[in-house]
Amino acid sequence: MGADMSGYLVVGPRKITEKSIRKAASALLRKAKAEVKSSSWTCENCGAVMTMDTSVCKSCGYEHEDLSSIGDLLTAKAHVEQLIADWPPDYRDVTSRSSPFSKGQIIVFAGDMSWGDEPSGAGYQTLKRIMASGVSKELGIL
Ligand SMILES: [Zn+2]
Repeated sequence: MGADMSGYLVVGPRKITEKSIRKAASALLRKAKAEVKSSSWTCENCGAVMTMDTSVCKSCGYEHEDLSSIGDLLTAKAHVEQLIADWPPDYRDVTSRSSPFSKGQIIVFAGDMSWGDEPSGAGYQTLKRIMASGVSKELGIL
């Protein structure tokens, strides 16, 4: 039995604009308010709906970030800025190149060989957080 490559491959802007950050902050605030109001959250990985008493998806084991501390736009914006502080990630487990299809965009991969456990590299963890945030689309990271 051999190892498998496990990673994230994303496309995003070379530099995230202030407009994108504001859009992501608004979306994050709406998401946080909806979760508090409904006392539930939707798994970013498989779409299952979970109650607030758990932060781990019972269907797929995915860990959900508690957004209940995000109560206003300023907090949401700070959260988004922290989320993208390392964008584009530049760690030993990351490789990237300019997109040949769109000027100003980059293609980023982060990952590692895995024997079943999740890669622990900083680049992989950074991309995982961004992609699980629920606001990657607003940031232009797909
Ligand atoms: Zn799930």
